[in-house]
Amino acid sequence: MTTPREQVDLTALNTLALPARSRYFARLDHSGQLPELLAFAAERELPLLVLGGGSNLILNGDWSGLTLHIALRGKRVSRIEGGALVSVAAGENWHELVRWCLEQGLHGLENLTLIPGTVGAAPIQNIGAYGVELADCLHSVRGWSLEQGCELELPASACALAYRDSIFKHSLRDRFLITEVTFKLRDVFTPVLAYPALASVFDGRSAPDALAVERAVRELRQSKLPDPAQLPNAGSFFKNPVIDVAHFARLRSLHPQIPSFDAPDGVKLPAAWLVDQCGWKGARRGHVGVHALQALVLIHYGGGSGGELLALAEAIARDVRSRFDITLELEPRVYAGR
Ligand code: FAD
Ligand code: NAP
Repeated sequence: MTTPREQVDLTALNTLALPARSRYFARLDHSGQLPELLAFAAERELPLLVLGGGSNLILNGDWSGLTLHIALRGKRVSRIEGGALVSVAAGENWHELVRWCLEQGLHGLENLTLIPGTVGAAPIQNIGAYGVELADCLHSVRGWSLEQGCELELPASACALAYRDSIFKHSLRDRFLITEVTFKLRDVFTPVLAYPALASVFDGRSAPDALAVERAVRELRQSKLPDPAQLPNAGSFFKNPVIDVAHFARLRSLHPQIPSFDAPDGVKLPAAWLVDQCGWKGARRGHVGVHALQALVLIHYGGGSGGELLALAEAIARDVRSRFDITLELEPRVYAGR
């Protein structure tokens, strides 16, 4: 029997270092613990917080439920023609997985290097960076259905993966605990260099190998993104908004220099640019602020709270709404104390 601990401090378990205690807390080392832990929560009507690396959530006060810290470990490889299916336990570190795949000569994850967090959280928002997203190499997701009380396997096609989105944020939100993710990786490396910042690194040079691309992405990220260990943050605070073509035409007539990218259902705007235009880049309000190099990254300087950070986010979003008629959406999930 795994007995959850009580009143556990979560400050060191979220990359924003927001202070919060969890009423109950248990570490999940193997999926066999799940039935008893879920029964423990059900008997006491406790809400669940499934916690990976804590790099994409905002703790707004103490959590009165049960936190399950995902620590499942292990990998399995099965060869297929031209590559391999790699099944990875949800608690494995994402960046270490990317490096391990490189060492094995298995390709597809290079552009996703240095993203913090766990493997199990990657499908939740279909993690993406530098022109690649999880959807490009996801094979399937295995997990525990909290409704059906059994393990299920979902093929990638059933996960409704979209831009920073998936079924796990909608109909399966709080209903599916991911225990294992399977990737379809290739023996042959095909560089994806469409992303302008990455393309310019290799401009005019012959086709780079996988190690060179991974290193280039790592160096680009380190040059502009604050390390949460030094400056607590949760990466991008807002999603890049996608607006319709008519709205974009109106905005472009007012702001001819507005950057934009074609998206399947409209025009995608960089939220960082919108925030910067409203004068927020580098601003500080009390214990929280906006990073000086990347306007999408909100920082907790210490001594603050989730409420203070969310008030800053709301002030930024209000300015963007009144200037551009765009409602920014938070990317990290907020867990309100109850
Ligand atoms: P957590 O923060 O622990 O959890 C996030 C959400 O997923 C929560 O709702 C949680 O309940 C749920 N969850 C976690 N694990 C499971 C599970 N096993 N089963 C069910 N639900 C689960 N994201 C990108 O997409 N691209 C980037 O380039 C990127 N860069 C970042 C850079 C920095 C500096 C930081 C701090 C964050 C960045 N992120 C990026 C965001 C974040 O790293 C990713 O979203 C990551 O996948 C979150 O993993 P995590 O384990 O920390 O998740
Ligand atoms: P950037 O290069 O300054 O670009 C700003 C935004 O413009 C990015 O968010 C990106 O959208 C978009 N963009 C740029 N070129 C594009 C293209 N050719 N096609 C479509 N969209 C394009 O971004 P950055 O802040 O340095 O981040 C670099 C990459 O790392 C981005 O992919 C970003 O998503 C990722 N990242 C994500 C997080 C997070 O927490 N989610 C944190 C840090 C970095 P996309 O976001 O859709 O790529």
